[in-house]
Amino acid sequence: MTDSGPGSAAGSGPASGTERASEGLSVTIVDGYVDEPAHFGVPPYISTYPRYTAGALVDAGVPREQITYHTIDGLRDEPDRWRDVDEADLMIYLGGMTVPGKYVGGTPAEPDEVRKLAWTANGTSLMGGPVKFGVGDENAGATETERQDLDFDFVAKGDVEAAVHDLVESGLEGFNNRMRDVDEVSRWAQQGAFVVEQHPNHPDYLIAELETSRGCAYRCSFCTEPLYGNPTFRPPPTVVGEVDALADYGVKHFRIGRQADILAYGGDGEAPNPDALRQLYGGIREVAPDLETLHLDNMNPITIVEWPEQSREGIRIIAEHNTPGDTAAFGLESADPLVQEENNLNVTAEECFEAVKIVNEEAGWRPGGPDDPTADSSADGGPTAGTAPRHLPKLLPGINLLHGLKGEREETYQHNREFLQRVYDEGYMLRRINIRQVMSFDGTDMSDTGAEIANEHKKLFKRYKQQVREEIDNPMLERVAPPGTVLSDVHLEYHQDGRTFGRQLGTYPLLVGIPGERELGRTIDVAVVDHGYRSVTGVPYPLDLNGASMDELTAIPGVGDRTAGDIVVNRPYDSVAAAELETTIDLDEFVTTQPFEPAD
Ligand code: SF4
Repeated sequence: MTDSGPGSAAGSGPASGTERASEGLSVTIVDGYVDEPAHFGVPPYISTYPRYTAGALVDAGVPREQITYHTIDGLRDEPDRWRDVDEADLMIYLGGMTVPGKYVGGTPAEPDEVRKLAWTANGTSLMGGPVKFGVGDENAGATETERQDLDFDFVAKGDVEAAVHDLVESGLEGFNNRMRDVDEVSRWAQQGAFVVEQHPNHPDYLIAELETSRGCAYRCSFCTEPLYGNPTFRPPPTVVGEVDALADYGVKHFRIGRQADILAYGGDGEAPNPDALRQLYGGIREVAPDLETLHLDNMNPITIVEWPEQSREGIRIIAEHNTPGDTAAFGLESADPLVQEENNLNVTAEECFEAVKIVNEEAGWRPGGPDDPTADSSADGGPTAGTAPRHLPKLLPGINLLHGLKGEREETYQHNREFLQRVYDEGYMLRRINIRQVMSFDGTDMSDTGAEIANEHKKLFKRYKQQVREEIDNPMLERVAPPGTVLSDVHLEYHQDGRTFGRQLGTYPLLVGIPGERELGRTIDVAVVDHGYRSVTGVPYPLDLNGASMDELTAIPGVGDRTAGDIVVNRPYDSVAAAELETTIDLDEFVTTQPFEPAD
């Protein structure tokens, strides 16, 4: 194992000849994107892999200006960039999907493209990241995967950043497959922050995934996270130092998403440690006071049930420091006791319900709303109760359900629906429900069962998914984001059917449809006026009655073509009340009347 001491900018061990060699090395990093159970890196997200890999290169003596970073979409968009793949002394491919998904912000590298990278590279080629766990024909549920080397010279079977570091130090001869230690990751995370500037989404539409720990104390049958072993935590100063470095390079959006359970952070592996959470969140706010997004991913409901008081405190700390619309994704996976037992799932439906309730109670408040505990002190410069627009709740649970697991039967679908219905009927909020079919990976307990059950149940699965969308998602969304809710900084992404669609940056953002074709790439504040199953309709906030378009006016429930026409004809208005509109929703929250200014 290589032992490079802290502070040695060029690593400690190598002979001076190797140091000179690394100084002359040109390196191209290609990001094919990752999606793991506890780590996301499809744009607008940037995962830790390219950042830490760049840091490891710098630590091994490669000058920053000789490190080029491209995303796979960047290569597709500008074929000239393939020259950097061809000409680099070392080409590193990072990628791998170990959970199924469809993505709006980017298209993960296909196996054929990854092979083409290896063939194009004239220098040494190395592949790493979760791709080491296996490659499927496609990134979809109900698939089986196998590990392939895809024609690369080297495949990092341990941590790719450690492999890269050792490979460079060896003069591109080789490396041992090893994991990196906490000192290394602390150093590399800061040294590699500069690559964010080369991401096509930098600076405004980029969110950095932050790692606080790896590994998990539990052993669910389908999951690749236990392949990292029991949890190891990065102490607060190392994560805070990384945020500081990323903020220096212009990153304003962060998600603490690379861990199995944020509540367990800094504890014994299972029980919460609120002090560590306070240091982490407080520290981040201190070094990045202007951050615009601070979200998380993954909270284990079993932690909340087993340590309710510490968990309540931890959840309060998170809600005090995060930004609205945050989601604590709960991996219930199945509400069927039989499936739970056969797959070693760690939480029952009853326990998960209790955890849903606790997160709602502690963190389901809205900034500026009547139950905002920070309203008087105006913490984070926030508005005061009563005068502020209504935002999304601070932190709500999300529910992950996984199908095709061992023991799944028709009743499983019934159990899951009943669980979701109960949450709704008892008045609680869920920020999102994520329903997927299993992917099977070698090294997990699901590898024997594979995708067999998922394939058998495909029809059942489709019908049930549709039912959940109609019967639960739609009314739940109306509860979470009622008309008048303001979503700030919605990024406008594409046009469809005369409307503009966009999303906020953050964890599981809502898709927002806005009437009319607006300029893409901009951000606007939006007020929700209506709901689909998993998306909302919004109008620009505040909506000026004296300037709104016909399309915007008719998007308001209760305003038809004729009323909208009357509004336009009778302009200007001194006040919203003067328009005497009869609508089913309260307009005062998001409609204004700007003084009318004649064109000349
Ligand atoms: S609790 Fe289960 S699903 Fe979640 S990270 Fe641990 S092993 Fe994976």
